[in-house]
Amino acid sequence: MSTQSYYLPKSVDEAITLMAEGGPDLFVMAGGTLAMPLINEGISKPERVMSLKRAGLNYYKQTSEVITIGATTTLTQMIAQDEIPMLKEAAKAVGGWAVRNMATIGGNLFAPPPGGDFAVALLALDAELVLRNVKGERSIPLIDFFTGFMLNSLQPGEIISEIHVPLPIGRTAYQKFGRRHENTPSIVTVAANLFFDGQRIKDAKIALNAVGPFPFRARRAEEYLVENSLTKQSIENAADLAAEEAEPFTDAIASEWYRSRMIPVIVKRTLEKLII
Ligand SMILES: Cc1cc2nc3c(=O)[nH]c(=O)nc-3n(C[C@H](O)[C@H](O)[C@H](O)COP(=O)(O)OP(=O)(O)OC[C@H]3O[C@@H](n4cnc5c(N)ncnc54)[C@H](O)[C@@H]3O)c2cc1C
Repeated sequence: MSTQSYYLPKSVDEAITLMAEGGPDLFVMAGGTLAMPLINEGISKPERVMSLKRAGLNYYKQTSEVITIGATTTLTQMIAQDEIPMLKEAAKAVGGWAVRNMATIGGNLFAPPPGGDFAVALLALDAELVLRNVKGERSIPLIDFFTGFMLNSLQPGEIISEIHVPLPIGRTAYQKFGRRHENTPSIVTVAANLFFDGQRIKDAKIALNAVGPFPFRARRAEEYLVENSLTKQSIENAADLAAEEAEPFTDAIASEWYRSRMIPVIVKRTLEKLII
């Protein structure tokens, strides 16, 4: 059965009402860069499709405490902003221009590994998601969104409406490692966000992508770094701890063996960027 109905709601209220009426069979799409190839190949055959592209979720706002980004903001738009350099870099790391012009930041949270190169930066920034359905609105930390391989904590009828990035942001570094420099799937991607008091690390957030079932925070490496300073030795120790926390896998891009060896290397390179 091919797609019979296509819905293009003009507001979030209209979108969530359609979700409530349509039930789980209504297929949600944003930029379509993940969804359309599956539909075109006949792997996914949704009868009814709803696009969020005109639902009014494409915006970027800043106050003194938070940056709010609508879920259908594209990665190309994120490259245009200068307030959060790590998000600019992360957006540039996803696919090529043709993909980034369509792909949304909300959609990246659903990308199976090795996808998630933008999500991993949001994770290191301690982002929160605002979720909406007809029953109301709730906020969850992004870290609680991912629950397993291609699994998340979205409730029936819910969409992600916006993403909050709390301010201030610490000193950040981002490094994606793939087979090529540009337009390449990830072997391992690392995002770090460290807060310093002089030389002492007050708080550390280190997130990894493409080396587990979903983007995750390397908690033991983070805990180890707090109260330490950033030295050659502390970086090496943190990199080894992060590698222990990962669950590298084999795909067409790299073997589990290669990924496991590259994790400490890339964590180290990322943290070294933060030494003053
Ligand atoms: C050639 C190519 C290269 C790529 N390279 C990379 C890469 O290097 N790194 C990377 O991370 N990814 C990559 N991707 C994957 C993908 O393009 C991105 O992850 C993109 O951000 C997905 O966003 P989208 O809006 O297109 O998702 P869509 O295809 O529109 O949506 C995917 C799924 O997400 C859900 N969804 C999307 N938005 C919402 C929302 N607001 N609320 C609820 N559910 C929602 C829906 O269930 C939907 O089915 C690549 C894809 C292609 C085709």
